[in-house]
Amino acid sequence: MIRFADNETIFTPETMTQRRIDTTDSDNELSRLLQDVRACRLCEQHLEPNPIVKAGSTARLMIIGQAPGTRVHATGIPWNDPSGDRLRAWLGLDKETFYDTRRIAIMPMGFCYPGKGRSGDLPPRKECYEHWHHKILARLPRLEVFLLVGLYAQQAYLPNAYKSLSENVKHWRDWYPRLIPLPHPSPRNTLWLKQRPWFEEEVIPQVRNHVHDLLINQADK
Ligand code: SF4
Repeated sequence: MIRFADNETIFTPETMTQRRIDTTDSDNELSRLLQDVRACRLCEQHLEPNPIVKAGSTARLMIIGQAPGTRVHATGIPWNDPSGDRLRAWLGLDKETFYDTRRIAIMPMGFCYPGKGRSGDLPPRKECYEHWHHKILARLPRLEVFLLVGLYAQQAYLPNAYKSLSENVKHWRDWYPRLIPLPHPSPRNTLWLKQRPWFEEEVIPQVRNHVHDLLINQADK
């Protein structure tokens, strides 16, 4: 969870209702903030800055992932890879809807590709979470549902999270319908999915219906 530097308020998705009353931020303010994010160089000693975040002030669904991979870094389009294809298939969303920032905001834990380590990509830089996340969330007053993709997002945003991603996903009902922990849809996790068929058979249909209800059936609310 995020602690605001200004007033020591603990930020959680649950407290956003109160903040939405206090927030008068406009599309212009969000645009200015996103310009600042895109100019961010906080981690330039560690990586090649190329922040990838998409959001519109009317978004109702937030997808918080891990960090861009090489293909996303090269194209500047979030989830523009096989992981994104599987995530869209899980949610039953075409690309047009998925990238419609009026409905869906996309923000990884680390906005820039973190580079390679000995065993794959490095973890997301924590600077984004500490410096940017609460500022962006404060300008998205209509968010109702958060998809927390991967353990980093779950550790940051799930109250009383378990230590493992598998446990968080197994206990997904603990936080439903506002916060939904998901495994990363990377092809590298295909074995995890095969070993837990209940996830795609039972969890995904409910999540998909929930997202469709939010984005499509309640679109005018
Ligand atoms: S990872 Fe985040 S904090 Fe670091 S340079 Fe990129 S946008 Fe800035």
